[in-house]
Amino acid sequence: MRRLARGVPLDELDARVSVCRACPRLVRWREDVAETKRASYAGEPYWGRPIPGWGSPTPAVLVVGLAPAANGANRTGRVFTGDRSGDWLFASLHRVGLATQPTSVHAADGQALVDTRMVATVRCAPPQNKPTTAERDTCAPWIEAELALLVEHVRVVVALGSIGWDATLRSFRALGWGVPVPKPRFGHGAEATLTGPEHDITLLGCYHPSQQNTFTGKLTEPMLDAVLGRAAALR
Ligand code: SF4
Repeated sequence: MRRLARGVPLDELDARVSVCRACPRLVRWREDVAETKRASYAGEPYWGRPIPGWGSPTPAVLVVGLAPAANGANRTGRVFTGDRSGDWLFASLHRVGLATQPTSVHAADGQALVDTRMVATVRCAPPQNKPTTAERDTCAPWIEAELALLVEHVRVVVALGSIGWDATLRSFRALGWGVPVPKPRFGHGAEATLTGPEHDITLLGCYHPSQQNTFTGKLTEPMLDAVLGRAAALR
């Protein structure tokens, strides 16, 4: 997959990832959830497939999340769309000028990102939102292939949570970019410089806007706005 996915146009990469079946446990889970459906979405079709990146094809800002939510993106087919994490994220992106609308509820709602693209580290919804290490490794070629296509435009990467942070560092290392040694520690507001052949990219750490963080006050709206606002200013 690593060799096949590299170098294809972005729309073809999106098409290829959307039919990937490389992780048996995740394929079962994404399709089971799509079949049984949450009661409140019983009348809606579910996407039930991998979630491609979404947003600008030439982004200055790249937002790297963990994995689609079972009844969020796995339902709507668009990353971070239709779940509580996405509610927080899109509201903040709109406040800092990186999204045209404050909400993102379904794939035809008119939402658009400004100079920004979102990707998931693991492209299929995992049980309990926890992919295994083997699943993360199996999916890694997809984000590497996408980064390889986007990197000439990207100036800032916002990593949501430590898994997104580590995946970003691993992916850039795999692409031959200079990554600080020792590995920079993830934290909210942490910054690191990724050194490329022609330009540098600033990596920003941001707590994931999961309910675990937003309900407990670990992540507040001003905290999220501060990191995404910094990304908007650096682009
Ligand atoms: Fe394919 Fe990634 Fe989904 Fe695994 S998680 S089936 S590698 S798209």
